Amino acid sequence: MLSSCGVILDCLLKGNLRVRELRTTNPVAVGDNVKVIPDKDNKTGIITEVLDRKNYILRKASNLSRQSQIIAANVDQTILVATIIMPETPAEFIDRFLITAEAYSVPSKIIFNKTDLYGSVETEKLNSLVDIYSAIGYECIRFSVTGGDDPDILRNILKDRITLIGGNSGVGKSSLINLLDPSLNLKTAEISDYHKQGKHITTFPEMHPMPFGGFVIDTPGLRGFGITDMDRNEIYHFFPEIFKLSGLCKFYNCLHLDEPECAVRDAVEEGKIALSRYRSYVSIMNDENLKYR
Ligand code: GDP
Ligand code: ZN
Repeated sequence: MLSSCGVILDCLLKGNLRVRELRTTNPVAVGDNVKVIPDKDNKTGIITEVLDRKNYILRKASNLSRQSQIIAANVDQTILVATIIMPETPAEFIDRFLITAEAYSVPSKIIFNKTDLYGSVETEKLNSLVDIYSAIGYECIRFSVTGGDDPDILRNILKDRITLIGGNSGVGKSSLINLLDPSLNLKTAEISDYHKQGKHITTFPEMHPMPFGGFVIDTPGLRGFGITDMDRNEIYHFFPEIFKLSGLCKFYNCLHLDEPECAVRDAVEEGKIALSRYRSYVSIMNDENLKYR
């Protein structure tokens, strides 16, 4: 735990704290503000209270469990790191990430990394994704860690905020965080590593104070979020461009799948809503985990 005066204390939880939030596996998460009674040595302490959270992001603790894990609390923004190649970030991964942030009302930006590797085909793909996501309202940043792009571009975005950074394995999250604070020296993976089994071990998110102000929450091993806690009838609320048109559908409870006179499907056909976004929507609606909710 990092105190407001910059001291780091190793803390235990007061016993009854564990009981209060029965449905989460961790009563305290990164980003939480807590009350602490420090021990005399000023190196350890006891957490007596978790203060009210502005927000928190959850995922299901495991496929079999009904409990959730709080990934992070009091998040100001999320940044999704994505790449066109080495590896390719699937469009559905991007959309699942963004809808999760929307569901918690946390604003998101997308950093497209590794632009140094892109030829004309990849650049065209990049441009079309930037068009799609900026039109919806997500700021997109083209970046290359190893290509020597100016880290100030990132510092300006992260300064004085609590930012959760996500993205599929290998896109350069650790490299980006190291660029912002080289003293962290986070382990980065060789390109060939991310196909290997066993890399996706479950680890807890870590929060790093940034030397220029603000905090970055790194989510190693976090492969997307649990959309399973969402209500299936509400998924379209988290696609801003779909939500905007949903009031024009014939049926007030239209789910934009195969209902007649659906303004959303019309907009997809007219190219006003990106096909890739609509495909992600349909795929999420067909997600086994959501079907029976
Ligand atoms: P993470 O799994 O998202 O944390 O990704 P890492 O930071 O471990 O990076 C995976 C690999 O991509 C490493 O070998 C990095 O050196 C490499 N990498 C990171 N950023 C860039 C970049 O902008 N361009 C290129 N060519 N490689 C990069
Ligand atoms: Zn509709």
